[in-house]
Amino acid sequence: MAREQKTILVTGGAGFLGSNLCDLLIAKGNKVICVDNLITGRKQNVQHLLKNRNFTFIKHDITAPLKLNSKIDEIYNLASPASPVDFDRLSEEILLVNSLGTKNMLDLALKNKARFFEASTSEVYGSALKIPQDESYWGNVNSIGPRSCYDESKRFSEALVMAYYRKYSLDTRIVRIFNTYGPKMRADDGRVVTNFINQALHNKPITIYGSGQQTRSFCYVSDEIDGIWRLMQANYNLPVNIGNPNEFTILELAQKIKELANSKSEIIFKPLPKDDPERRKPDIALAKKLFNWHPKVELEEGLKRTIEYFREQK
Ligand code: NAD
Ligand code: UDP
Repeated sequence: MAREQKTILVTGGAGFLGSNLCDLLIAKGNKVICVDNLITGRKQNVQHLLKNRNFTFIKHDITAPLKLNSKIDEIYNLASPASPVDFDRLSEEILLVNSLGTKNMLDLALKNKARFFEASTSEVYGSALKIPQDESYWGNVNSIGPRSCYDESKRFSEALVMAYYRKYSLDTRIVRIFNTYGPKMRADDGRVVTNFINQALHNKPITIYGSGQQTRSFCYVSDEIDGIWRLMQANYNLPVNIGNPNEFTILELAQKIKELANSKSEIIFKPLPKDDPERRKPDIALAKKLFNWHPKVELEEGLKRTIEYFREQK
């Protein structure tokens, strides 16, 4: 029997993760309404979907209420700038989209009796004192530091989603996304993988901040999107980590990218931004237990695919 077609709203749908999610939801036969104000996203990420009759693009800032003519079954709320280079320039926008924006989307979900999905982040753990980070860890966040607009507004968004779940019995999900990379990121997005790849492809110096001994655990986009989709199907309302637990130093990442891109770039060292977390590594036992998810694409393979994407963009 054919599966019932759902109408799904994706906020931030023209961004890196949102546009990859729109592709998956369309491929599964759903109707997708992509809402984005293009503050950090690009319409070209969904250009190929614009002629698809199951796809609609609406340019809208979700800090204002959204009026829709159609009934929706699900909302994936991904709208928010996410790169640390924007934490100064867009601090107010980030605080508002994750508070007022999330509230507007929760109210829309209530009105439609839709299932609601919130994109939270490993940043809610702050400069984590527990390694690896599991979902029970409360975190170590500076509420007034340069990253606070992002960290605290994401923590607020989690609290708001839980309030709607408890108070109104709204059917909600929360994912905590760990550093994800891959095609459809902006070359000038400012995050580490895009910076290093584009510096390497142009034989420009690869800029390591600090000593390069800080770590991150990088998840390839197809794995992240698969985890997000599976979590939405699962019957579980508390936050779930989705990320790749393999941890690398930033120096190792720079060396790997230089080698894979066959680059002549020199590696240089710049000051470490304030409150830059030292280690980040997800414990993914919960996602494994709940919906049998684990990442499949290892760093080297994911980097090769991403380098290829940026070579084509050049
Ligand atoms: P992105 O910047 O590529 O995408 C975010 C999208 O949201 C953009 O298209 C932007 O234009 C849109 N947007 C921002 N404010 C908006 C508003 N007020 N109204 C409508 N649209 C708005 O970033 P991304 O990496 O794709 O991140 C997507 C989500 O995942 C974000 O919520 C982010 O916090 C979360 N996340 C991402 C990562 C990662 O490693 N990529 C890690 C943790 C969490
Ligand atoms: N980083 C770096 N060089 C760059 C960009 C980032 O060394 O050109 C470092 C940054 O200081 C951090 C890590 O790489 O330690 C990951 O940074 P990113 O901005 O991707 O995201 P974060 O995980 O800090 O939110």
